[in-house]
Amino acid sequence: MLSIKNLEAGYGKVKVLHGINIDVPKGQVITLIGSNGAGKTTTMRAITGMIKPTAGEVTLGGEKIDGYDSHKIARLGLAHSPEGRRVFTTMSVTDNLLLGAFPRFTGSRPKGDIKNDLEKSLEMFPRLKERRNQLAGTLSGGEQQMLAMARAVMLNPEIILLDEPSMGLAPILVEEVFKIISNLKSQGVTMLLVEQFAAAALNVADYGYVLENGKIATHGPAAKLKDDPAVKAAYLGGG
Ligand code: ATP
Repeated sequence: MLSIKNLEAGYGKVKVLHGINIDVPKGQVITLIGSNGAGKTTTMRAITGMIKPTAGEVTLGGEKIDGYDSHKIARLGLAHSPEGRRVFTTMSVTDNLLLGAFPRFTGSRPKGDIKNDLEKSLEMFPRLKERRNQLAGTLSGGEQQMLAMARAVMLNPEIILLDEPSMGLAPILVEEVFKIISNLKSQGVTMLLVEQFAAAALNVADYGYVLENGKIATHGPAAKLKDDPAVKAAYLGGG
């Protein structure tokens, strides 16, 4: 579904990604873990068209998408739930969700039943359902994070990129976020999950990649990575 080959990217003269390869097959949850500054967010930005890769390629369903602008990539069915709760604070929860479906409009008619999908995503995120008429800026940080995820779901996407969905959340909300991720997984949604919270990410994922200093240090089935002594020592808080 999504394939990243020998990807290099950075900011100006600073190279952050030094030729990485990641494969996200349809229906699977793939996680990318790594410590602060490893280049996880930069990888997401290079996939979603926010920065242009300097080498390598990104393909979605066989179509080469690197170099496309973000809007075109969204229209091809790639949804992005960005790091740091980027919601529209002066708009209601419902309007934020409807905006998530915006790329589904080509001409005047949308693809699929947006009203129905709105109700479905509110069912999936009960906290948002209770607050559907509230301004997004008045939600707690954790609720805003969920809104960013729910908005990604509203694209009715082929694949969702989740950038650190647990960041800054209280443990109870982290649990809720991961429950939602497994729920999406059981519905067959393909996901690339970037997380610092490696243990939870490896529990929900099928396969994982470990990013260190802009390179893939190791990769393998999630269950195997969880038992890898080096991964355990560096990312799972124990030897
Ligand atoms: P974190 O978990 O802390 O978000 P990360 O793995 O997502 O880390 P990135 O945000 O991709 O890491 O950052 C990788 C490197 O790129 C860092 O050295 C960072 O300083 C640099 N970097 C990130 N964003 C920019 C930017 N907009 N301009 C210049 N350098 C940047």
